[in-house]
Order: sequence, then C-alpha cells, then structure tokens
Amino acid sequence: MAHFAHARVDLDAIAYNARLLRERAGGAALMGVVKADGYGHGMLPAARALLAGGATWLGTAFIREALGLRAAGITAPVLAWIIPPGEPVGEAVENGVDLGVSDAAVLEAVLGAARSLGRTARVQLKIDTGLNRGGIGHSEWGSLVEAAARAEEAGHLKVSGIWSHFACADEPGHPSIAAQLSVFHDALETADKVGLTPEVRHIANSAALLTLPEAHFDLVRGGIASYGLSPIPDLDVPGLRPAMTLRARVALTKRVPPGSGVSYGHRYVTDRETTLALVPLGYADGVPRAATNRGPVLLGGRGRVIAGTVCMDQFVVDVGDDEVAAGEYAVLFGDPDAHPGAPSAQDWAGVLDTIPYEIVTRVGVRVPREYV
Ligand code: PLP
Repeated sequence: MAHFAHARVDLDAIAYNARLLRERAGGAALMGVVKADGYGHGMLPAARALLAGGATWLGTAFIREALGLRAAGITAPVLAWIIPPGEPVGEAVENGVDLGVSDAAVLEAVLGAARSLGRTARVQLKIDTGLNRGGIGHSEWGSLVEAAARAEEAGHLKVSGIWSHFACADEPGHPSIAAQLSVFHDALETADKVGLTPEVRHIANSAALLTLPEAHFDLVRGGIASYGLSPIPDLDVPGLRPAMTLRARVALTKRVPPGSGVSYGHRYVTDRETTLALVPLGYADGVPRAATNRGPVLLGGRGRVIAGTVCMDQFVVDVGDDEVAAGEYAVLFGDPDAHPGAPSAQDWAGVLDTIPYEIVTRVGVRVPREYV
C-alpha cells in the first residue's frame, strides 16, 4: 500500500535527462553525480538510470558512497573526491574506485595502500583553479604532478584524470570562469610536460555543461541537471524532466471560525470561517521551518501557501470553502507535466532563498522514495 507521504522518483526521467545531457555535451563523456544519495533521489536507482541513459562514469563525494555502488554490483568507473584522513583508501583501491587527489598527503596515503596491496591505484589529480575549496594550489601543482609521474613510472599508480571545479559557472560571463579555464589549461600543460597522459580531463558541472562548450574537455560532471533541475534559476533547459515529486495525503480537515490561530505560535490567524487541511510532512521530512506562512503547495487543484508554523511532522493549509477531503494529495513540488500547477523545487528554493539542490537533498529518510 502506498505510504501517505512519499517522494515519487521517475527513473525514466533521470535516464532521459542523461541522454539529453550527453547530447548537449557533444563528444564529452557524462559522469552522473550520485553523491548525497543521488541528490535525495536514491543513489543506486539513480546510478542505474543514469548509466542506462548513457552516463559512463559516476561521481561521489566520499569513498563510502563509491563502495556502496560497488557493493551493489555497479562496475562503471567511479570517482570519489573528498578524502579526509582515515578514509578507507585501501578498500577504494581494491574496488577500482578512482580517488580525487587534492594534496600530497592524500597521494602518499593512496600510494601506501597501493604498495601494500600490490595494486595500481587510479587517481585523479585536482587543481584548485580558483574556487579555493578542494584541489591543490597552482603553486604546488608542479611538485604534485612530478610526484605522481614518479609513482606512475614505479607502477603503483595511474593518473586517470586531471580535473577542477568552477566557482561561478552558474553566473555565465562571470570573469572568474575565464580565469579558471586559463589556469586549468596551464595545469594540463604542466602535467603533459612531465609525461602524464590522463584518460579524462574535466572541469564542467551542470551549469558549465549547459552554457560553456569550451569547458567540456573529455568529460562533464552532471549533477543537478541529471535530476531534471536547472542549475541556473533563469535558465530554461528545454526537455529537462524533474524526476522527484514530493507529495502527501491530507490527514484530516476541520472547519474553524474566523480569528482562529493556527499551529505553534499562532503565526497565522484565519480571517473568516474556513477549512484547514493537515498535511503530514514536517521539518523532520525536509520541509524547512522557514517555509512557515510561505511554502507553496498544490491542493484541491489550486496553488496555496502553508498556513502557520511548519511542525516536525505536519503543516496546515487553509483551503477556504473549497472541497478538500482527507486522503487527497497535496503536492509540494514535482514534474509540472504530471501535476499541472504544482510548484517546482526551484519555486521552493526561490521562496526560501536557497537553491533547488538543497530542496531535493533534504527530503528526509522518513519519506519513502517510490520509483516509477
Ligand atoms: N563536481 C563536483 C566536484 C561537485 O561537488 C558537484 C556538486 O556539487 C558536481 C560536480 C555537480 O554539480 P552540479 O550538481 O551543479 O552539476
């Protein structure tokens, strides 16, 4: 029996988006980014759908996520890129996971694991071209590539990739984009000079994939767009299909008189006799408390706004004199084709002054994902 609240995930939409992104990427390969439980959609189903749609690589933030893919029998190349001290690099090497290397200490740890296992580790060296987050600084790049080239010669390591990440790809024309590309080209040249021949060179996320062909190189890393959401609020990407719909059945309705304070703090007060509908999703499920009196909802065929404080497990919608019954679905966001008039994850992001990434990844573990 269907749960009263669920995130419906359309796997065909994810596969379709992957096909569309591959076309947009020209000759570059597509890495489907499946970190953070596939942006909240479910890592394994999302990974399989992306591979079915033509992605040939998968990307995760952490080794544990990559090992989860391997444990499920997924053999496609996987890159994991955040390697804090103490992470299971040996297990990653044994399982053929490519490791993002952002400093000499990680390179040493990977080399140590490769030597003791008698295996060749696959690493992808990351240059910090200006995001000032992960990646080795430009001034230390030369010594990192030299160390990697020596280890490659010794047979312990294969530099399978060289890569970077943009700071402002979602602001086309931002001067940092050209500056980062120039540093990236320079870094590739330096690596070439020491004899490194990476299989893949990459810097593009969804925004660069869609707006910056000169950043495609050999591979593009498609995250948010794989799930059907635009990485840039005012960029309409024709054909993208939002894969997740978050909805819940109304638990009960009640008539209340004018002047009724609604939910904690009485932050909403009815101005007439009206019907209140209780929707069983709360901040524990990923509906932010900041959506109090602001979050958009489709209910009873009309767009409405949450009335009063969002609670841990529920919120209220004022439906006036409309006929809305317990059991009817309230749609928080979803595919507008499947639910005409439904708000989008971008609508929620706009209301909450955030990005759609945060809206879909925060849907809680109590909300079952239903795959269609
Ligand atoms: N590459 C890296 C290193 C990332 O951290 C991310 C996500 O944040 C992506 C690619 C995918 O980005 P997007 O979801 O904007 O496509």
